[in-house]
Amino acid sequence: MDRKTHEVLKFLIDWNNLLVDPPVEGAISEMYFCFIASCQVKGKDKVSWLQFVKCLQNIDEICICHAFTCYPSNALSLTYEDPFKCFSRITSIDRLALNLVYKRVKITMDPVSGEESPKTPSSPLPGAQTAIYHKPIPKDKEEKLDLLLELAESRRAKPKRSINDLCAGLTPTDLEDIYTTTSKAKRLRQLNLLLATHAGSHILTKERAKLRTIIKPFYDCCDDPKHTQMLISLVSFDRQTNYCKLDQHKLNDRLNMGYGNDNDISKCVNQKIHFIPIIQSQTDTKLGDCSYLDTCHKMSSCRYVHYGQLMPLDDVSAKKATQHNKSIQKAMQVSDFTRGESMSPASRPELPAQWINCDVTKLDFSILGNDFALIIADPSWTIHMNLNYSSLTDSDLLQIRMDKLQKEGLFLLWVTGRTIETGRDFLKKWGYKVVNQITWVKTNQLVRTISTGRTGHWLNHSKEHLLVGLKGNPKWLNKCIDPQILISSTRETSRKPDEIYGMVERMVGPGTRKLEIFGRQHNTRPGWLTIGNQLNGTHLVEKEIAERYYKVASV
Ligand code: SAH
Repeated sequence: MDRKTHEVLKFLIDWNNLLVDPPVEGAISEMYFCFIASCQVKGKDKVSWLQFVKCLQNIDEICICHAFTCYPSNALSLTYEDPFKCFSRITSIDRLALNLVYKRVKITMDPVSGEESPKTPSSPLPGAQTAIYHKPIPKDKEEKLDLLLELAESRRAKPKRSINDLCAGLTPTDLEDIYTTTSKAKRLRQLNLLLATHAGSHILTKERAKLRTIIKPFYDCCDDPKHTQMLISLVSFDRQTNYCKLDQHKLNDRLNMGYGNDNDISKCVNQKIHFIPIIQSQTDTKLGDCSYLDTCHKMSSCRYVHYGQLMPLDDVSAKKATQHNKSIQKAMQVSDFTRGESMSPASRPELPAQWINCDVTKLDFSILGNDFALIIADPSWTIHMNLNYSSLTDSDLLQIRMDKLQKEGLFLLWVTGRTIETGRDFLKKWGYKVVNQITWVKTNQLVRTISTGRTGHWLNHSKEHLLVGLKGNPKWLNKCIDPQILISSTRETSRKPDEIYGMVERMVGPGTRKLEIFGRQHNTRPGWLTIGNQLNGTHLVEKEIAERYYKVASV
């Protein structure tokens, strides 16, 4: 085996171990890019695409039982001039086969130069271990483990360690080496370690999320009442936006006159948000803060105290966010690591926003297609509250053919109070398993948790829940990227936080079809089809959907 094949083999073992969960799925072209990237990091010579495929063939031939299962099965024997056109993927890499070959290569190579040693015997090794080596690699996982144990134990039977020992290295030197099991007693500990190790796909998805997630500036809030007191007379308030504007000259005059600690307040207005009480003619300060603050429906007559926000003047956080958000464009061009897909979703353009104004209970769902990766629904449950839109009875909602929309994927359902149980029940009836629940903790304008909400019979509602239903076993889901909890401010009645879109889009990846049921105009966005009865008309971009929709609508 030449040095380059050896390098590729070493890379495959690392890569395979990194991915933890075999069988490994991936396009050969993507493995090649990872390999090239690792060559660059290590300052090694590059291997051309054709050489790479040749090395794979070489490794495969050396393995007694073939190391790769490819799709299509002749993938390795085809020559691809353009890696981007290579759609074949390796569906499984046999870790045991690779390890065995690697151990053999390691002992037959001159460790210093990496060149083949002239003394290398053509057959691997004499004796008992050769017999094990020549055993076909079993298909069954348990048997594979036994073979590894056999190898390890036969090594232990020989007291002297020798570099020529076929099994050298198969005995782990420490517990970190989780891929080579030694004794049955250690299995459990090793299994635990294995489970605690993140798969490469997971690590890469998290990295990708960091690079591509739009961030918003984050500010601390000033809690010094002296600052607020001083600023009251120095700001003007804009009723439309709820923002305050500082008169810097007035502040300087005030500071020159010796009020306050010059450094302290000047620094603070630059870095933190200040909430300035807005005292209107009807305001009765003795009553304290309005529970609804900036979401109050009767702001102009409310007698409770409201606030205006004075944002930090030197917006370092905003500058940082802008810089990061600009770099996202570039990060989007980097080819994605994908599982089971040979084409990077980043190269697939996102569909523009689409929407249909309709009565959801009457729409024939078969026109929408059944390949949504993700569905989110925020039904207007009957909750005995005065809302400015129509609501649905439980039985109307259950009648909707939600079961027709997905072959596999996620269905997220917003629920409150009593509907938590009903929602779970409905998801099950529509063919989903409730696998999780996302909680939105609501904050108010003053960035505090809400203590007096508009809903709640027993305790005030200060959170809402989004049930996560799963249908099928979608391998493409990115798991464990975001936390289960989302802390965000309330806005108009029923409006849900926008952060949820980022969260769920990271779960299903870019370029997938997503559906929002009971959405309003502000919910429409690229990649999503939104349906609801408060939308502005109908706007469809996908040709087949538009054709089917207008055909049905014209009847
Ligand atoms: N998630 C939304 C709020 C949804 S409120 C947001 O973030 O803003 C529920 C919406 O469902 C309302 O717009 C209501 O008008 C709509 N709706 C109620 N019954 C409907 C029906 N039968 N068909 C379509 N939309 C309906």
